[in-house]
Amino acid sequence: MANTTQIDGNLTNALVAGGVSRPGTSGEIGTVINPADNSVVATMEFAGALDVDNAVQSAKAAFKDWSTAPPATRSAALVRLAARLEARAEEYAQVESAQSGKPIRLTREFDVPGSIDNVAFFAGAARNLEGKAATEWDGVHTSFIRREAVGVVGSIAPWNYPLQMAMWKILPAIAAGNTIVLKPAAITPLTSLMLAADALAVDIPAGVVNVVVGSGAIAGEALISHPDISMVSFTGSTPIGQRVMELATATVKRVHLELGGKAPFVVFDDADLEAAIHGAVAGSLINTGQDCTAATRAYVQRPLFEAFVAGVADLFTEVVVGDPADPATDMGPLVAKRQQLSVAGFVDRARADGANVVTGGAIGQGALAVGAYYLPTLVTGADQRSEIVQSEIFGPVLVVLPFDSDDEGLALANDTPFGLAASAWTRSLLRALRASREIKAGCVWVNDHIPIVSEMPHGGFKRSGFGKDMSTYSFEEYTQVKHVSMDITGVARKPWHRTIFTDNW
Ligand code: NAD
Ligand code: MN
Repeated sequence: MANTTQIDGNLTNALVAGGVSRPGTSGEIGTVINPADNSVVATMEFAGALDVDNAVQSAKAAFKDWSTAPPATRSAALVRLAARLEARAEEYAQVESAQSGKPIRLTREFDVPGSIDNVAFFAGAARNLEGKAATEWDGVHTSFIRREAVGVVGSIAPWNYPLQMAMWKILPAIAAGNTIVLKPAAITPLTSLMLAADALAVDIPAGVVNVVVGSGAIAGEALISHPDISMVSFTGSTPIGQRVMELATATVKRVHLELGGKAPFVVFDDADLEAAIHGAVAGSLINTGQDCTAATRAYVQRPLFEAFVAGVADLFTEVVVGDPADPATDMGPLVAKRQQLSVAGFVDRARADGANVVTGGAIGQGALAVGAYYLPTLVTGADQRSEIVQSEIFGPVLVVLPFDSDDEGLALANDTPFGLAASAWTRSLLRALRASREIKAGCVWVNDHIPIVSEMPHGGFKRSGFGKDMSTYSFEEYTQVKHVSMDITGVARKPWHRTIFTDNW
């Protein structure tokens, strides 16, 4: 099959479906832009509804053989895929950086190795389907549980971690025997296309992993509405997640939603201040703040407040903002000009509203002016109910607010429609236990913020959605439970038939 990806701005295919790489037929031309310098990385004709249907039919055709293959066969395929990605790690790191503006250090040290580790994890998980032991619960039927693949999964991914999000969608689905059609974000599709090509290259059968690149409104809606899709798995913003849920009702699809976040970062007065300051800087600026679990609201107990603000402000000005291709760069641009304007809008409105912008609060100037840069921004004096505290910004913006009692700090942390992640900073075991119990979020870190592992689940509470990514929890969500109940008596007339044959039993 043809090469799917060229990072020279040339025409690229928008689909890998049924083992074939080809352009879409929507008539809509999409460009992938490097937000560091506005250069065109790739151009493609997007997939439309017919292309989506074609991919779904390929996935449907591949389902029988893939879902009935021995787990060891699926596992071995993932082992081969991990090796292939390992061999191409640098290429993936380069393309991921070019299409998204992520610093090359981040793609080399986090996105790509994290993705390879996910593949290795699901290679193991594929062989570890769990169910209840078979037995005769009523004495006369042997019951056992089958965990079966759901069918063709339609997945939609965001642009913030293009490769990792593609992995989180594809791996549990195919490890469990499903086949998949993934629509990556239209502005960052290249590593997903590479991945689909690599799946074919390591002999994962054609049609098991299909990628279609197109707009959310056309390709995305066509995928979610498709009658032959059995489950939709979506990672993205809460409003689009609500739309996905709505579209899924027509055909009663299983829905898995990983949505927005607004993670609190709660610093108690006994915390290691230096650790909290470093954690807040890294946790709020990672991926230029375009991380659903990023630290966005730091609540700092009054005695540490001033020192915390001063320490974070100091480090924010030391962060090297610049060319993502330079390994010395700490923070790159936002993913696109549009995102830059959106982030600037939040900060400008907060400023107009009386909040205090301590550092940053401006788009990049000079050499940075050509890209979608926004400086690390620290905000204080905002109202808890204000937009900058309540809405997801998805940029390098940290709001710091003080609190007095522990009760107040935890209440402020929970005062949000989101519930994806949170952290608590303290040396007290009791405070750590209390915070981890009371904060309503899918993940609570203690004395850290951000690290994830393939073995542990990632997913939200509240309007951050439901369903878990990574881990065996995710694996199980891509299976459906079947109860098989087998009569062991061999008798024709059974006692329970008396409900019908009352008199002549
Ligand atoms: P988005 O919701 O705008 O888009 C996500 C995907 O949905 C894209 O592929 C887009 O093309 C598609 N889409 C858009 N409209 C659609 C429609 N009507 N029907 C079907 N698909 C449609 O999100 P984004 O801006 O790409 O990503 C940022 C968001 O993702 C943030 O809210 C962030 O918190 C969230 N996110 C969540 C997690 C998590 O695990 N919970 C992880 C990463 C990102
Ligand atoms: Mn781009």
